Amino acid sequence: MKNQELLKIAEEYGTPVYVYEVEKIREQYKKLTESFDDKTRFFYAAKALTNINILKYIQALGANIDCVSIHEVSLAIKAGFTPDRILFTPNCVDITEIETAMRLRVHINIDNISILEQFGNKYGDTYPVFVRINPHILAGGNYKISTGHIDSKFGISIHQLRHIQRIVKTTGLKVEGLHMHTGSEIKDIDVFIQGLEIMFQMLEYFPDIKYIDMGSGFKVPYQQGELETDVKSLGKKVLKAITAFKKESGKDFELWFEPGKYLVSESGSFLVSANVIKQTTATVFVGVNSGFNHLVRPMFYDSYHKIENLSNQVGPERIYTVVGNICETDTFAWDRKINEVKEGNVLVLRNAGAYGFEMSSNFNSRLKPAEVMFMKGKAHLIRKREVFEDLLKNQIEVL
Ligand SMILES: *Cc1c(COP(=O)(O)O)cnc(C)c1O
Repeated sequence: MKNQELLKIAEEYGTPVYVYEVEKIREQYKKLTESFDDKTRFFYAAKALTNINILKYIQALGANIDCVSIHEVSLAIKAGFTPDRILFTPNCVDITEIETAMRLRVHINIDNISILEQFGNKYGDTYPVFVRINPHILAGGNYKISTGHIDSKFGISIHQLRHIQRIVKTTGLKVEGLHMHTGSEIKDIDVFIQGLEIMFQMLEYFPDIKYIDMGSGFKVPYQQGELETDVKSLGKKVLKAITAFKKESGKDFELWFEPGKYLVSESGSFLVSANVIKQTTATVFVGVNSGFNHLVRPMFYDSYHKIENLSNQVGPERIYTVVGNICETDTFAWDRKINEVKEGNVLVLRNAGAYGFEMSSNFNSRLKPAEVMFMKGKAHLIRKREVFEDLLKNQIEVL
């Protein structure tokens, strides 16, 4: 998608606006499916971006979906995913949310002993489940997004294997799948092989396993010089290990992954306008008409998003600090070379498809941005920009 097309969208729909080029999602999905065999299934981690149109698009690609809340499950069903293509992987939910998922007939992934025991006691062998294992592998780009380490709240520790076995034995519970997700932005593909080997060992203890789900953590490049997770060699290595294991053990199972960021990050651009150029004694700030209320990743994860000036694509570069309009430290980027910015210019933050709109809020009583889908050369508004009334929508005035 060309810069001119982005600029046209900014003019037509205003800023701030998220734009998703769906062709990019298709390309990423194709790269994954081509790197593995036909039997490997990919479950899009919906929490990265849940606009219903994006879910429908991903559904039509043939992907499956991984949901972390019951409402994501409902969105998935609305988008056309059949229950066998939905995996529910919640964390710290109560048994009633699990039971709702059960009535919807989706795959359920249980991540703590307490619920496993309650579920087993109530339903015995009538509804097979997944167990989320915490293998205690530290992986991922940032502590906040690493989920497999010893301090993590996710999964059931591998050291509690005996306890899981006791519950299974006592209640008759059927474990149809084993799951692990060690974090996001994993560059070192050997982490997956390490995880897989732990899974192979676990198989011995669970005779009913049909699925092994290795989660995700597939990385996309944000900065110059950064690399994407090499899914091609990952595919080769993983398939080789699995083929050997299956042959040796006589066991069979399906391999699943749950890419979120990998599928949608690069499809997304976030367009903002420069409100103010502010020269201080220390730097030149570009103050834009957005903030961490719309894109929290830079402040929350120290993430890097490439920034370009769409209104001035050829001028000399200057060094800027790009900040938002929220009344708290609110920095998108320090010391960036950007083509000279004038007030009113439209800037693009790249790689904003994943965990962008999805993590937005109304902090400072500001309105959430619009979302536009770009498909087959055409822009479609897929979420209206919020209006003032939305702020009061659920408030009850008692004074
Ligand atoms: C967030 C999450 C994912 C996706 O992670 P990405 O880094 O976006 O690919 C996959 N599985 C589970 C269980 C998750 O919570």
